[in-house]
Order: sequence, then structure tokens, then C-alpha cells
Amino acid sequence: MTQSSLPKPSIAIVGYGSQGRAHALNLRDSGFDVTVGLRPGGPTEAKAKADGFNVKAPAEAVKEVDLVAVLTPDMVQRQVYEDAIAPNMKQGACLLFAHGLNVHFGMIAPREDLDVILVAPKGPGALVRREYEIGRGVPCIWAVHQDRSGKAKQLALAYADGLGGARANLIETTFKEETETDLFGEQAVLCGGASSLVQAGFEVLVEAGYQPEIAYYEVLHELKLIVDLFYEGGITRMLEFVSETAQYGDYVSGPRVIDAGTKERMRDVLKDIQDGTFTRNWVAEHAAGLPNYNRYKQADLDHPIEVVGKKLREKMVWLDNSPKEQKEAA
Ligand code: NDP
Ligand code: MG
Ligand code: MG
Repeated sequence: MTQSSLPKPSIAIVGYGSQGRAHALNLRDSGFDVTVGLRPGGPTEAKAKADGFNVKAPAEAVKEVDLVAVLTPDMVQRQVYEDAIAPNMKQGACLLFAHGLNVHFGMIAPREDLDVILVAPKGPGALVRREYEIGRGVPCIWAVHQDRSGKAKQLALAYADGLGGARANLIETTFKEETETDLFGEQAVLCGGASSLVQAGFEVLVEAGYQPEIAYYEVLHELKLIVDLFYEGGITRMLEFVSETAQYGDYVSGPRVIDAGTKERMRDVLKDIQDGTFTRNWVAEHAAGLPNYNRYKQADLDHPIEVVGKKLREKMVWLDNSPKEQKEAA
């Protein structure tokens, strides 16, 4: 499909955080009419105004537009949908998500007259913006949940194209596949798996009497070199660059650490995701005011690897240590 044959809906972006800001800026630069919906007085309102957007309360922003992108944190989307979006979106408009969680697990049951689609960039908002600005794009996956107009697919492709995703790669998926694989990836491998692997490796070395500083370099700091090689050329490229000794150690010891038992437990994690147990627990945790979440988070922040890491990173003058907000805006 050529770019010129794609529709050009007017768009309201609700939420101006990591994804919201990048989507709003890229879509505007791609020629879409973009309004931003935010609760008045919230911390990101000033930013959206400074970027030159027409900012309205969500209930107002969604009223006249053809497409509403729901880009608030997942756990507040149901409330925002019920209070501001569902009562105000025009008949036959299109509702878009960047993660399928609320729709797939039934927290949001979108109005029958709406098209419901997903466009999820495979990268954080700052990268979505940066790649667009240099004429490239971040790959996007897209899906159609509900097609009332007969144009839901074209709307998803138009939005992904406006984000710059079509310059990279677009892959069709379903709400179920996107939601379950996204949760599994972040839990088993990316956030949960990787940080637990690093902490466990650090603990084993320190408990065996090695210096925490040395342990930090070996199991956390150097991980970046390995991940960069994965990113550039997969495991093949990592094997090209590390020593023969490192490769042999990888072959004989990797499978001793991540073994059939680990895979079995990964399947348990996946089962809890698929049958909704994880999401049910997370919704209840959020509703209860995050008591366990805060406790788990504090334990991670207090872990000895964080204490030694903070000290060592003070000497790494090349690091970008700017606060999250500033780093994302850069
Ligand atoms: P953020 O946490 O960055 O979103 C924060 C924004 O949401 C702020 O503008 C905030 O406004 C607004 N917001 C918060 N609560 C409300 C509310 N009650 N009413 C209106 N606006 C509110 O979200 P992300 O960008 O991380 O995630 C957005 C979606 O994108 C999620 O579905 C996520 O799963 C998905 N996604 C995220 C990726 C990422 O890299 N972060 C990658 C791919 C998908 P205020 O200033 O008022 O607080
Ligand atoms: Mg996710
Ligand atoms: Mg080494």
C-alpha cells in the first residue's frame, strides 16, 4: 500500500509520557492534526504546551477526532476510558492502544460502534522520536481487534506509518499475541530475568569472598558489551567477538545455569500470563495502593549491587546520568 492511499485521521493523544510525546510529535511532523488530552495541572501538561500542542482535558480532546490513542499508564486506562473517552468519542471513530492488556483481559470492553486497533512500537518513546528525526523509524507491530468501518487495518497502517514505523518494519499481530508476549518478555527475560540473573551472579561472587567492585564489573557493567553485540548481530556476533575461552565457558556452563528447570518455570510464568492470573493480581495490587510493589522495589534499590554500582559509576564520566524526564526529552 502506498503512503498516499492511507487515511489521514484527526488524532487525540491521551497521555504525554514516554510513548505519548513521541507519538504526538512524530504524527504532527507527518502531517496529522494532533490534539493532546491531559488532566489539567498534571506534570506533563506544561511539556505538551511547550511543544506547541493544543492541550485539552481528555473528555474534551476526544470529542471531535477520528482517532483516539490511549497512551496513559496501563493501570489507569480503564478509568480514563470509562470517565472521559467512552462517553465522548464520536460514533464510528477509532480507538488505539500501544499495548493490548486492558482490551485483551477485558478491563476495557470498547463501545460496539468503534474500530479498535493496536500499534506498538518496539522501543521506548525517546527512541521512537530520535529515529524519526533522523529519517528512520522503530519497527511497529499492529493489530485489529474490532473493525466496524472496514478501514481499521488502513488506520493502523496510517498511524504506524506516521510514527515512522513503516520506514523500519511493520508486523501484523493480535491483541492476544502482543499482550502475552510483551508481558512474558519483560517478566522472564528482559526486566525480571536479566536483573535476577545479574543479582544472583553478584551474590555468588561476593559470598565467595570476591570484592563487590570486581563482581559489579564482571556481572553488570560488562553486560552492555554483550547486549550490544546481540542487538547488532544476534548471538552469532557475540560469539565472533568474545575469546575462545569465553565461548567454551558459554557452551559448557550456560546450560548448567539456564536449564530445563528454568524453562519449566518460564512456562509457569507464561501460563499465569495466559490464564489472566498475573493481570488479576496486578490489578488488585494497583487497587490496594501498591504495598507489595513498593516493598519489592525497595529491596531492589537496597541490594548491595546498587550500593557499589552507584560508587563506581561516579567515576564513569562518559555516562548519561541525566534524570529520566530529561533523558526522554533529549
Ligand atoms: P507513561 O507512564 O509515560 O504515561 C504518562 C502519561 O500519562 C503522562 O502524560 C500522564 O499525565 C498521563 N496520565 C497518567 N494518569 C492519567 C490520568 N488519570 N488521566 C490522564 N492522563 C494520565 O506511559 P508509557 O508511555 O510508558 O505507556 C503508555 C502506553 O504505551 C502503555 O499502554 C504502555 O504499555 C505502552 N507502551 C509503552 C512503552 C514504553 O517504552 N514505555 C513501549 C510500548 C508500549 P500527568 O502529567 O497528568 O501525570
Ligand atoms: Mg510492556
Ligand atoms: Mg570477564
